[in-house]
Amino acid sequence: MSHRTIDIIGGGPAGLAAARLIKLTDPDAAVTVYERASSNTSTFGFGVGLTGATMKNLTAADPHVAERVREASYAGHRLTLRGSEGDVELHGARNLAIGRATLLAVLADAARDIGVRLQMGTRYEMTESSADVIVAADGANSEARGKLETELGFSVEHGRLHFMWCGVDFATDTAFFTSKGHGDAQFVAHAYPYAADRSTFLIEADEVTWEAAGLATNDAAVEKGGTDEKSIALLEEVFANDLQGRRLLTNRTRWARFPTVSLERWHTGNVVLIGDAAHTAHYTIGSGTKLAIEDGIALAEALAENRDVTAAFSAYEEARRPAVDRFKLLAARSQTWWETFRNRSGRLPEEIALSYMTRAGNLTIADYAREYPENARTALRHLGEAPVSEPERLDDWVLSRPGPDALAQAESREVHTPPAGPDVRTVTWANRNPTSAAADRLLEEVAADTDRCTTVITGPEDPADVGARLDLAERLRVDASRPVVVEVPVASRPMAAAAVAARRCDAIVTTA
Ligand SMILES: Cc1cc2nc3c(=O)[nH]c(=O)nc-3n(C[C@H](O)[C@H](O)[C@H](O)COP(=O)(O)OP(=O)(O)OC[C@H]3O[C@@H](n4cnc5c(N)ncnc54)[C@H](O)[C@@H]3O)c2cc1C
Repeated sequence: MSHRTIDIIGGGPAGLAAARLIKLTDPDAAVTVYERASSNTSTFGFGVGLTGATMKNLTAADPHVAERVREASYAGHRLTLRGSEGDVELHGARNLAIGRATLLAVLADAARDIGVRLQMGTRYEMTESSADVIVAADGANSEARGKLETELGFSVEHGRLHFMWCGVDFATDTAFFTSKGHGDAQFVAHAYPYAADRSTFLIEADEVTWEAAGLATNDAAVEKGGTDEKSIALLEEVFANDLQGRRLLTNRTRWARFPTVSLERWHTGNVVLIGDAAHTAHYTIGSGTKLAIEDGIALAEALAENRDVTAAFSAYEEARRPAVDRFKLLAARSQTWWETFRNRSGRLPEEIALSYMTRAGNLTIADYAREYPENARTALRHLGEAPVSEPERLDDWVLSRPGPDALAQAESREVHTPPAGPDVRTVTWANRNPTSAAADRLLEEVAADTDRCTTVITGPEDPADVGARLDLAERLRVDASRPVVVEVPVASRPMAAAAVAARRCDAIVTTA
């Protein structure tokens, strides 16, 4: 038993989960959570989704809290992609959703019950602290991190989409995605129920929509801490059918761009960062709360096993880095998919569904076809009739389809030597952001190059680099209307086959 004093900045999921677990494993520690909001109901955001994996990990670490969270959650919704050409049902009742305020109330009560002190309405000042350990769990805009940026090796990249996190006062009958608008102004909504009388209704606008709908002007007129009433009124009109005529619920709601936070080190001196303060992953893979809670679990374990604070912090970081890095990569690809959503307009809903489900690179065509055989059959029709019925043979079927007309040299979708000749441009791409300014410049160059028709993209073999090439290929083939062939190592063949199936690229060159 340690008699350590532990100050936790932030009563979000990370701070509260860590507080309870640290106190459980070390009852003599004096654990205090400082939360600047005066109550859990004044928190930002509406509902968050919790996956089966999150609940499994929470159950293993803290069955009591897992059970309380499960009881307070809303279960059982399907996921529907509402397209202009019809709807596609994606999957059933696997995920739970819970109001953020409810989740925080459950976590706060469970922490308080075992002796954690909660100081609500208190903004923490690090300089005034004499604690043995300071846990910065103060979210994506962490002030604590701001004071230690250099020591921690901080960087942030803002996404291109503008989003608004709203709610509605009824439970939508399914979770759904839909795109609505007028002319160039096309908004995307992600909605899901999280209580009998509440749903999250998150809306995105890409840069074309931002310009076309004049959203910058609306945004500029909003005061600090205010709600963008003009944009809300516009969105209520655009999504009137989906909203069933109801109003959007807001809570200091305005357009934002998602910040992807990365740190070279998650601790310095007696300060350790957890949750969004240490790392963020785009909300479209719904895993920020999961990562935040799992950080709390790992930090409590590391502090229990190591008397030396620095050793404990290192053990925590070592345990968590691999999982966090993996989710960051999945999230980055998912973010790109949503940033380029417009590029898939006009496609069959089944094709969009296949593209959506394989967007992050962790699901193969076989995985998809096993679960949705009919959808897969329709989605693959652009490659020819009658795909094989055994899902595990689909990669070979897809890659053996005849090459597209525009690629005269390719007898199938998989070639073993890259196309060559005066009409071929070969690009080596090692940038993992396919929507970066460098990618925009490449797009312009390719579109302006009337001599060379086909683009071959090559680059490093790491799956994260391959994923970025495939996503860049989709931008090139849609925006610059050129056939694109992507070089992939044989280990990434399933991901590449899914990319051909989802029209991210026209063909692949596999290398040993
Ligand atoms: C639009 C959107 C949708 C999302 N949807 C999902 C989803 O469906 N599923 C999911 O798992 N995740 C989702 N997330 C991510 C999730 O909200 C975060 O990853 C999660 O809340 C991180 O928890 P945290 O405790 O690290 O930080 P936070 O939840 O941000 O909590 C930080 C807390 O610190 C407090 N604080 C800040 N500074 C101070 C200070 N100086 N003193 C005292 N207190 C302070 C804040 O008031 C806040 O309560 C979404 C995020 C966004 C932006």
